[in-house]
Amino acid sequence: MLTQYLSADDPQTPEIAAELIRNGELVAIPTETVYGLGADGLNEEAVAKIFKAKGRPQDNPLILHIWAPEQMEDFCHHIPKAAYDLARAFWPGPLTIVLPARDLVPKRTTGGLATVAVRCPDSAVTREIIRLAGVPIAAPSANISGKPSTTTADHVRYDHDGKIAAVVDGGPCRVGVESTIVDLTEDRPRLLRPGGITPAQLIEVLGDLVIDKAVTSQIDKDAVVKAPGMKYRHYAPAEPVVIVSGSREKAAAYIRAHFTPGDRVLCFEEELPLYEGCNPLSYGREADVNTLSAGLFGALRELDDPAIHQVYARCPVGDGVAYAVQNRLKKAAAFHIVDAEEET
Ligand code: AMP
Ligand code: MG
Repeated sequence: MLTQYLSADDPQTPEIAAELIRNGELVAIPTETVYGLGADGLNEEAVAKIFKAKGRPQDNPLILHIWAPEQMEDFCHHIPKAAYDLARAFWPGPLTIVLPARDLVPKRTTGGLATVAVRCPDSAVTREIIRLAGVPIAAPSANISGKPSTTTADHVRYDHDGKIAAVVDGGPCRVGVESTIVDLTEDRPRLLRPGGITPAQLIEVLGDLVIDKAVTSQIDKDAVVKAPGMKYRHYAPAEPVVIVSGSREKAAAYIRAHFTPGDRVLCFEEELPLYEGCNPLSYGREADVNTLSAGLFGALRELDDPAIHQVYARCPVGDGVAYAVQNRLKKAAAFHIVDAEEET
């Protein structure tokens, strides 16, 4: 199949992409979080193509992308006031809400669950594609399953060229990590995945938030969890990653003492001079955590090289967006963390 590359700036793009979606084809779409691999979310055959292209486990549900907040009523029922409050505060934006699914949402889309995840993304071209298609677009991140997510059209080309109908190029993703997911189907709101909307922002609107254990720890692959996607190995380059925590100086001393040729260091821009001779790669500035979230997956992709033995990674501290970066990096490292303050 010849993959079409469509520019988000071309006025014809939304209609071309929408028609492909209506015809049951796969189209990669830009959003503010990551690029999604999209299909008609109400068409089982189209949705099945997403799982096949990604090599995604069948029980890992997709997010249904809608063009206007009100559309959540078309696909969800028993919607609590909290959902409307969140939608008003954060949509369009990097927040996904899990709600009871209406019967028209296929089980393939929900991974067999009675609930569905919905999001109104902050990308004008993608919302226009959804509006013109006349159907919600089901989309997970466009990466091959288990690999770092796709934050540029080039990442999508690398993973899917010749295998999907089109890629809509909207430039690099602003947030760079996947959406925050909040489950509103229980008594208390539950954070299933941290992202661009922070726990503090959620608590300000909801007054309450439970952090699911899948956010903070490694989940066994046979476990029954609220967010099935969280139990699979994620975001990982080919080689082992270890996070080295602690002060700049202590971490650099630890890494330099353990570094062997063939290893790489993933660090903050401010730290590059400390790793001269250790082949360091910066993913953003520690002083501006948004550059770290935007740069993380691109850097992990660059490090996805079987010739590399080991990656030593530096992780930002703090809450807010740093919390989402920590979560993705810890998953890439399979929660392997060394505290340089204790080791040196
Ligand atoms: P991705 O965008 O690739 O991260 O995939 C979508 C994520 O949304 C996965 O981690 C899923 O586990 C999560 N998700 C989708 N639908 C549901 C749902 N109904 N309940 C809980 N989590 C969901
Ligand atoms: Mg994903």
